[in-house]
Amino acid sequence: MTARLIDGNALAASIRADVARRAAAFAAHGRKPGLAVILVGENPASQVYVRHKVKDCEESGLYSVLERHDASIAEAALLARIAALNADPAIDGILVQLPLPPHIDAGKVIEAIAPDKDVDGFSIASAGALMIGRPGFRACTPYGCMKMLESIACDPRGKHAVVIGRSNIVGKPMAMLLLQANATVTICHSATPDLAHHTRDADIVVAAVGRIGMLDGAMVKPGAVVIDVGMNRDADGKLCGDVDFASVAPVAGFLTPVPGGVGPMTRAMLLVNTLEAAERAARNAHTARAR
Ligand code: NDP
Repeated sequence: MTARLIDGNALAASIRADVARRAAAFAAHGRKPGLAVILVGENPASQVYVRHKVKDCEESGLYSVLERHDASIAEAALLARIAALNADPAIDGILVQLPLPPHIDAGKVIEAIAPDKDVDGFSIASAGALMIGRPGFRACTPYGCMKMLESIACDPRGKHAVVIGRSNIVGKPMAMLLLQANATVTICHSATPDLAHHTRDADIVVAAVGRIGMLDGAMVKPGAVVIDVGMNRDADGKLCGDVDFASVAPVAGFLTPVPGGVGPMTRAMLLVNTLEAAERAARNAHTARAR
């Protein structure tokens, strides 16, 4: 067997095209959906990420503002900026690029974002909504992984899904989304003995660890769907995932490549969340006017 690749670039392009259509229809009523991106400091990876996010907005017809702050900005000043953006009707989504400098409490900053503008889906309100199955923003990476499953008509219902990694931004929300989709979910982490015992039984494996090639072909059930969230740099600086592509590709049924897999989907889902925030804000304003 040779795994079929799930092309994240192509799927993300079709999602962006749909966002662009809906954003144009939205803009016809007066304004574009708006995203504010806050960058603190000079972290080179963060600079690349925020540039991509702003470019994605421009190309899909969304309005975006990039706020750059010196690494020395006081926490109170940053919180004040978020309060101003919360109150700005031109802004539907606020994203604070992580990591933040050590003197700033990232949790406090994320909680300062109004729940209806938390397009990264990292706040306690968004995580709680996901946990109890209420509508709310879904963290972009797991949301993108679910879209990848949908794109290959993989319905998680009744399947055994193994998520490797339990971070608040990837592993845990991924597991909750799979659970919501009626998979039987196993969450593995650094204290899991015999990881292969779990992954070999999985119909769907999501690897979100941050270790090059940690999932190899001997750990995968023939025909399984393998989603590689990992983004690592090898000794030559080349981007690679958590999955050992060479040994997993002959075993898995479907596999996401790195690069060109989950990464572009994460970016696309940020646009979807921002557009949906704008559409919701417009509906709420309409309802308020009708009262
Ligand atoms: P974290 O470091 O926050 O979490 C990593 C998780 O992996 C932890 O839960 C950890 O367990 C677990 N882990 C570590 N070692 C092992 C092991 N040997 N066996 C099983 N589990 C292990 O990372 P993130 O969740 O933020 O990111 C994970 C990866 O995904 C990274 O490579 C990151 O760059 C990438 N990423 C990619 C994105 C994309 O768009 N493609 C977006 C976001 C992240 P424990 O909790 O016990 O420490």
